[in-house]
Amino acid sequence: MFYVKTVPALKRARADIHFKRLVLNRAVRCTVTSSSTAQTEHDGVRIRGGSECPGLSGRGGRRREGTAAAAAANEISVDFEQTREAYKSKDSLELLRSLVVFKLCSYDFLVDKNKEVMDLAKKILGQKTFDQFMKMTFYGQFVAGEDHNDIKPLIQKNHSYGVGSVLDYSVEEDISQEEAERKEMDSCVSAAEKENIGKDHRERKYQAHKQFSDRRGGVTGARTYFYADEAKCDQHMETFIKCIKASGGSSMDGFSAIKMTALGRPQFLLQFSEVLVKWRRFFTFLASQQGKDGLEALEQRLELTQLQEFMTKLGANGDFYGWFKGRKEDSTGCIDMLDWNSLIDDRTKISDLLVVPNVELGKLEPLLGKFTVEEDQQMKRMLQRVDVLAKHALESGVRLMVDAEQTYFQPAISRLTLEMQRTYNGEKPVIFNTYQCYLKEAYDNVTMDVELSRREGWHFAAKLVRGAYMYQERERAKEIGYEDPINPDYESTNRMYHRCLDYVLDEIALNRKANVMVASHNEDTVKHTLTRMNELGLIPTENKVYFGQLLGMCDQISFPLGQAGFPVYKYVPYGPVNEVMPYLSRRAQENRGFMKGAQKERELLWKELKRRLASGELLYKPVY
Ligand SMILES: Cc1cc2nc3c(=O)[nH]c(=O)nc-3n(C[C@H](O)[C@H](O)[C@H](O)COP(=O)(O)OP(=O)(O)OC[C@H]3O[C@@H](n4cnc5c(N)ncnc54)[C@H](O)[C@@H]3O)c2cc1C
Repeated sequence: MFYVKTVPALKRARADIHFKRLVLNRAVRCTVTSSSTAQTEHDGVRIRGGSECPGLSGRGGRRREGTAAAAAANEISVDFEQTREAYKSKDSLELLRSLVVFKLCSYDFLVDKNKEVMDLAKKILGQKTFDQFMKMTFYGQFVAGEDHNDIKPLIQKNHSYGVGSVLDYSVEEDISQEEAERKEMDSCVSAAEKENIGKDHRERKYQAHKQFSDRRGGVTGARTYFYADEAKCDQHMETFIKCIKASGGSSMDGFSAIKMTALGRPQFLLQFSEVLVKWRRFFTFLASQQGKDGLEALEQRLELTQLQEFMTKLGANGDFYGWFKGRKEDSTGCIDMLDWNSLIDDRTKISDLLVVPNVELGKLEPLLGKFTVEEDQQMKRMLQRVDVLAKHALESGVRLMVDAEQTYFQPAISRLTLEMQRTYNGEKPVIFNTYQCYLKEAYDNVTMDVELSRREGWHFAAKLVRGAYMYQERERAKEIGYEDPINPDYESTNRMYHRCLDYVLDEIALNRKANVMVASHNEDTVKHTLTRMNELGLIPTENKVYFGQLLGMCDQISFPLGQAGFPVYKYVPYGPVNEVMPYLSRRAQENRGFMKGAQKERELLWKELKRRLASGELLYKPVY
């Protein structure tokens, strides 16, 4: 059952929280600066502090034991230039393969025409030889194997070097653009819209547009699902369940990733997103009427009596005061965005969720004229599938990561994930939401959800990414005519990422309930995280701050982190060669020659191969 509950009133005063943050930051900084400056270096991990053997216990075989207290007194930094440690888990042939693959990705022609080149290679070599060739090159680099059994050795090897796995079944239908467009248009338009084109006051952003209906365009970071029918969604759910079980079976602390668009008709995600955004916008409008514009989302508070007066002046006849009567336990007479959002909770019929406030009439109105019984069923089934997956994750001791997708789906995806967190994250973090920091609204999203978790007492858990759909999002906004949701430039995305990250790290330091995965290949971001962890006294073995990278990318970051005892995970894609081609094609795009990260990786691989050659270690075999 999909479960919703209303937001209880403020449990902790804001002033108190800010005061605690301030005191805590000061106290922690003090500890860090007063720590001893003696340094020891081991396996590329530098530790400033008194004890020679720090309390770093990784999850893998390279553990070093010690007490948490000893670790807290030390400052840890990881050396990402130490190639011997970074590539300890790889033999020289694997290093050579990486080098060849990254080198091939540096040729624009090959990347741009990768599909044609692969099709041609398949014709010339035949399927069997082609499969072998791919396994020796691209597939071997970026994909773990064909099925759950095939991937076990790699998972075990990585685990023994301190690197965990987020299983990510990567099979994608390789459908034509025409078919993708047809499927998308069919599944994003409701029966009511087809009947009354333009009569329901839908926003263009939250409607399907043929020229953007192939959602794969310009995306390098993520897989795309197109809705076929309910049976196909059930099939996706079964696949995710297998993935969750395999994650549970392969380690004690596994993660599994899912995409909401695989689990139901996307029409519901579009409509629910529109509803959520309209509610939020309406609140911001009312706040501006009370002179609160310019404040951050969580700082804006509406006075209920003023709200009632304003609405009455507008001619609205609704009992706005009454909307909140009985919902708030405190007597401040004010509400904030979270109280406001609670208005769209506790509705039994799913289509009843799709209501928006009508200012003129002062009442809630349905977004669409009507919903068919089948549509209501489809919405329910999507929520049920999500719920089934959450239950499986809980039973298997696996944490479920819900990936973030396009902005016209994301408000709904994020909200549904939050509802699961309210239900399943009471005791421990089971469900992880994803926040895309290339969005202008990322900080508001993160802070509001953290605040809600505080008020309700559940474990906030987030994966922070920069975002995979930038080109597509910008182009769509421009063509369709709405504000570009993405930060104006790369630097502002970086600032946003670090701002959101700092907020969550502070929250962890404050109450040890929040959790974050820093899902990035950006070395500066990883270093920034380590610095803040040191400043805040966050110990890697507390398992509150995780790191995430994709398999086959940035090993020079993942492995040193893992060996230093930080919880670090690779997104591990798997599936038969032919069916992961679209995934491989995107990996080629993301590792293009001009990418700073790819260049650095090639340099480090060379450095290590030359080092092994010079020291007679070319035949080195990793032990695990
Ligand atoms: C483990 C893992 C899980 C992931 N899960 C998701 C997910 O669920 N959803 C999702 O959307 N993505 C996901 N991604 C992809 C991610 O969002 C990024 O696309 C990818 O990781 C590159 O960002 P970076 O921080 O690694 O590296 P960087 O190279 O530092 O950052 C590149 C990113 O910066 C942003 N950017 C670049 N240029 C500009 C510009 N001009 N203006 C504004 N912003 C700019 C873009 O987001 C771009 O992808 C995931 C990545 C990883 C490693």
